[in-house]
Amino acid sequence: MPELSVVIPVYNEKENLRQLYTRLKGVMDSLGRGYEIIFVDDGSTDGSSEILDEIASKPGSRVTVVHFRRNFGQTAALDAGFRQSRGEVVITLDADLQNDPSDIPILLEKLEEGYDIVSGWRKERKDAFVNRTLPSIVANWLISKVTGVYLHDYGCTLKCYRREVVEHLTLYGELHRFLPALASHIGARVVEIPVTHHPRIHGESKYGISRVFKVLVDLIVVVFLLKYSTRPFRLFGSGGLISFTLGFLMALYLSAQKILLGAQIGHRPLLLLSVLLMILGIQLASLGILAELLIRIYFENQGKLPYVMSYVVSEGTTIKANGGA
Ligand code: UDP
Ligand code: MG
Repeated sequence: MPELSVVIPVYNEKENLRQLYTRLKGVMDSLGRGYEIIFVDDGSTDGSSEILDEIASKPGSRVTVVHFRRNFGQTAALDAGFRQSRGEVVITLDADLQNDPSDIPILLEKLEEGYDIVSGWRKERKDAFVNRTLPSIVANWLISKVTGVYLHDYGCTLKCYRREVVEHLTLYGELHRFLPALASHIGARVVEIPVTHHPRIHGESKYGISRVFKVLVDLIVVVFLLKYSTRPFRLFGSGGLISFTLGFLMALYLSAQKILLGAQIGHRPLLLLSVLLMILGIQLASLGILAELLIRIYFENQGKLPYVMSYVVSEGTTIKANGGA
């Protein structure tokens, strides 16, 4: 069993792969620990697949390649890599040589200090300012504020994780960048350290400015997951209750006017608003109840627990406990 697993998402990176492998192998060999390298070929069409297979076919390469049938995206590739990995520690990095494999030992040292995630921070980022670095600064500030987990650089792929952290989280959409926030929510200790960043020399970046919007939409999902995924009725129910109460009070007021003063209320805009708010209130509450049922199906069907245990001590023996959201 390897101690360390390196997971690398690859999409059309043919000029980078050999050099990446050579440099990575050099660093990993120098650590003197058992390791494996997992490349996830995310539907490459430029010949990267063949190069990866060739690298993996050499005896003693310690390389596994997972091939996707088509391009499913970096998050899906990372998830597949996590599932394939067996090491106690999982390290992720980009295939384009923008991350430097020689930072891995520093990350591992930090992890040894008792953290569960060590995240790279591209302090001197070598990407275009206006459409890359600037949106990233704003996005990181927003994500930090909203999730309460303060990092300068959520987007840096160079990170290392303890196995338990990646085990319980399934990744969708562009969610891989939110792993530190999601993991911190289940009790993981997260730390950030500056890492080297190089400009991209071969190949092209796979993302444009549209990524900013995807990340922002995913942030809404993450906030919902973090705050309400175990008790959705708190969100929908309270919204529904407020709306219904407001509508009901308006209806009372109008009824009182009609009954006591004999006022005409049929043409009053307030009547429309009152009916709207009451219906909306009932709708929201019903949605909340449905969400509560769904969440029960989610947890019970998959044997998931809405909490994470750290460990159990029983009559002097400590048992490592697992399971969690
Ligand atoms: N990547 C991937 N699937 C995709 C897009 C990117 O596996 O659909 C990989 C890509 O090969 C690289 C990493 O994800 O290893 C980061 O991509 P890129 O360098 O284009 O992103 P940037 O550094 O510009 O944010
Ligand atoms: Mg890159």
